Amino acid sequence: MINIERTETAPDCLKNKIDYKCDDVLDKLENDFFGKCYICETNLFSTNVEHFIAHKGNKKLKFDWRNLFLACFHCNNIKLTTDILDCTEPNSDIEEKIIYKSISDVNESIQIEANDSYSNDNLTKNTVTVLNKVYNGHTKIKTKDANKLKEYFLGEMLQFRDLILKYNKERHNKLKTSENEKNIEAELHKGSKLTAFKRQIIKDFKNYHKLKQYFD
Ligand SMILES: [Zn+2]
Repeated sequence: MINIERTETAPDCLKNKIDYKCDDVLDKLENDFFGKCYICETNLFSTNVEHFIAHKGNKKLKFDWRNLFLACFHCNNIKLTTDILDCTEPNSDIEEKIIYKSISDVNESIQIEANDSYSNDNLTKNTVTVLNKVYNGHTKIKTKDANKLKEYFLGEMLQFRDLILKYNKERHNKLKTSENEKNIEAELHKGSKLTAFKRQIIKDFKNYHKLKQYFD
């Protein structure tokens, strides 16, 4: 999960409080959330408009632009009404609060933990619980979907690690790194899939500090 900058102005079509999935909402969400689910950071499963806080018939919450998020059915169905960190909240650095641990085999569990300084924060704890269920599953059906997600995850990470290996090799041999670095920059951009995991790899290795400039 990474911080998302939401377009400030609410779409006009929400004003009449008839359809919260109106075209302007869909377009803006697609654009602001880079077309991916804010929880699993992929578009592996079909996405929908989620109410971050369940509206339960409350019109204000139902048509509140700040309460509309782009989420996939897999994640939405795990989160349900759990209160989690708001990735669109400008004053909350969500990427500082959670630590992501990669895997190298689909049978391993992807481990997501709260950063020590936030281990007593309820929203962080809830978010960590939801993310662990999203990536590893907690029921038979969810584990099946989570396995699909893990296979996708392994492919993305393999590709990313190849770029990093090439980067190291080029730096070691004092070669130009611009083309490869551009690819790394694209993978560290918010629009890439599983960005939080890729950024974690960079955070974990001091040698990669130069690449932090690509966290936007
Ligand atoms: Zn998702």
